[in-house]
Amino acid sequence: MSNSASPVCPLDSQTSKNRELGAAPALVQAFQNSGNWKDWKWQIRNRITSLDALSRLPNPGPGTREGLANVLRRYRYAVTPYYLSLIDWTDPADPIMKQCLPDTREVTFRLPGSEDDPLKENEHMPVPGLIHRYRDRALAMVTTTCAVYCRHCNRKRQWGLRHAWAHSRSVARMVDYIQKTSCIREVIISGGDPLTMHPDKLEGILAAFQAVPHVEVIRLGTRIPVVLPMRVTDDLCGMLARHRPLWINTHFNHPREITAEAAAACDRLLRAGIPVSNQCVLLKGINDSAETICYLCRRLQSIMVRPYYLFHCDSVRGTDHFRTDLRKGIEITRSLWGTTGGLSIPNFVVDLPEGGGKAPLMPSYLLDIDGEEAIFRTFEGKIVRYPCPEGA
Ligand code: SF4
Repeated sequence: MSNSASPVCPLDSQTSKNRELGAAPALVQAFQNSGNWKDWKWQIRNRITSLDALSRLPNPGPGTREGLANVLRRYRYAVTPYYLSLIDWTDPADPIMKQCLPDTREVTFRLPGSEDDPLKENEHMPVPGLIHRYRDRALAMVTTTCAVYCRHCNRKRQWGLRHAWAHSRSVARMVDYIQKTSCIREVIISGGDPLTMHPDKLEGILAAFQAVPHVEVIRLGTRIPVVLPMRVTDDLCGMLARHRPLWINTHFNHPREITAEAAAACDRLLRAGIPVSNQCVLLKGINDSAETICYLCRRLQSIMVRPYYLFHCDSVRGTDHFRTDLRKGIEITRSLWGTTGGLSIPNFVVDLPEGGGKAPLMPSYLLDIDGEEAIFRTFEGKIVRYPCPEGA
């Protein structure tokens, strides 16, 4: 279906260029020519994880080998061949590359106030791995493993650690707490990435939370449709469908991530009756322009994925080089309200430090209101008076 309202976007040409095998290094070409490309287990087995493999890439990231070794000593690193294949190696500022390849600034650049756990998640755990910050919902971290370790991750403090909460005894303690806490009606299954788990284990966790009488809804956070879409198999969708009402939140940050494979993965989830929403993080040098966010949200809407949140990047140590000015997100949101439909506009939110919770940030259109009228500035800058008669 043609969409005459779609913006002409320079990203289109990058997408088609990226589809040419010639843009990929020999390592990626060899992967793509493999008959196992569509096998998610093969993708996991062939992830790039070592400094040697990193140094064979055409652009192993800024900094020396020793500098990158320092990063890897502190923070894990793994990229699936699929996600690596989305990189345009002719562009030193490629937005996919910046999200998945280590950068020495992770250990050398720090803004004032950044911390490993600024949201104080660890202090809001009544039992290990379960964050209970909002009254009616709790977040269960059931794994610390991910398919790709996104460099901007706000939980990078716990990557790959074999925390107690990755074990079934910890899940039992989470379920026990929720059973005793009747105000919790929604459980968010998170990690790490829960869709990296063995499906039987994940199904056991879903069933255990759903067996609690006052739990009405399960939400699951995953980046698998973005970084390993072949993992979303019919079998996996069938298992997830047995646990509806189940909502999935995924994490596309850039329109170039919406490939045919990623769109098909989301479609399989939707056909299984599982709504898919998107949580995007505003990242400097990756998606911090109105054009990129607008195009991303329109592409998401076209594949039936609801743009849900646009997050301001948290003040997490090791991610400071991705942080934008808070005003940037407000400007982008203002621009979206003037140029695209409401279904393509995510809520821009900042997660407040010290466990303060999410604060929505909207550009203000209301200039004044008194007993008789309200005065607005429209998205086009016009001043409009709106009657507010007494007694209404
Ligand atoms: S998939 Fe999610 S939890 Fe895992 S590294 Fe990426 S952002 Fe972090």
